[in-house]
Amino acid sequence: MNQTIEELLAFLTSPQKIIVTMHRDPDADALGSSLGWARYLSGKGHEVTVISPTDYSANLKWLPGMDQVLVFEKPGQNSLSKKKIKEATLICCLDFSALSRLKDLGKVVEQAEAIKMVIDHHLGPEDFAKWMIWDTVAAATAQLVYETIKTIEVGKDTTEIFDLDMAACLYAGIMTDTGSFRHSNVTPQVHLAVADLMRTGLDTSRVHRLIYDSAPLSRLQFLGYVLSQKLVVLPEYRTAYMVLTEDELNKFNSSTGETEGIVNYGLQVENVVMSALFIERKGEVKISFRSVGTFSVRDVASTYFNGGGHKNASGGKTDGPVTNTVDQFLSILPEYQEQLLSVE
Ligand code: 5GP
Ligand code: MN
Repeated sequence: MNQTIEELLAFLTSPQKIIVTMHRDPDADALGSSLGWARYLSGKGHEVTVISPTDYSANLKWLPGMDQVLVFEKPGQNSLSKKKIKEATLICCLDFSALSRLKDLGKVVEQAEAIKMVIDHHLGPEDFAKWMIWDTVAAATAQLVYETIKTIEVGKDTTEIFDLDMAACLYAGIMTDTGSFRHSNVTPQVHLAVADLMRTGLDTSRVHRLIYDSAPLSRLQFLGYVLSQKLVVLPEYRTAYMVLTEDELNKFNSSTGETEGIVNYGLQVENVVMSALFIERKGEVKISFRSVGTFSVRDVASTYFNGGGHKNASGGKTDGPVTNTVDQFLSILPEYQEQLLSVE
């Protein structure tokens, strides 16, 4: 057991008031790892509150424990969130390691007196937490939560440690961050963790169906529109990109989350190495980048678009307007051309 976990365990021997929070626009790994960790901590007798900085997509509402999650930017839940953070003795930051990923919640967490800890797998962490369980090789934060709990509960059988709800939350995170076990971040540890979690009786096929095969018809129609009208491929740069304006999002009544995953379709085009999706929302442009092989979209996101993430999956944001952001993206492509063309 390493020193971080030993110190954390010593701290947790008395009941604590704990906040678990995750990055804005949380995906299944952010929410799944947070809810799994929160459930573990409340099972140990701590008072735990899960706070999301922003709203999340509809296909994640079924995650066990979601009905208790406070959304910081919702007017009706903002003051209660602040009160809970003020009273907290420990704030657990999951699936991010830069406070800017929390939007308005970042300042509140930064100023809180509680001890902060991070469980994360993103590159380039900031130094704001006392304890860091951080591993960029880990396929998902949910994988790190699983491994941390296994380390703490060494000697116990999995079925004594994890209940079905915890298993579902952690599985959802691992499954989505590995692209259903097909990305290059999949290791033997990933399959071993999942095999172990399945011993709780977890119905993995159901988790997959609830996340991927339960979209409203409007999402599929929106996807059809984007793929047929908005997907641009630049073969000379092995790049695909899509731009979605606020008007288009409004026209399709697209809520946060309905655009989730769309960027991946760019990579399905033959020879494409980088895919980018630009989304204009409330005057801000949110960019998603995906790549394959050696090409690092993290470099693109962190150098030019105030962002970061992983080598093959990153994001960033600008103040817009979206046309300027796209122009800038197009203008930097020649700089990356050699790297893009050399990917096997
Ligand atoms: P997505 O495109 O799904 O929003 O994000 C892809 C990956 O990049 C995720 O791991 C996410 O945490 C990270 N990411 C997305 N947006 C940002 C950002 O603005 N800053 C940083 N540092 N990472 C981001
Ligand atoms: Mn993650």
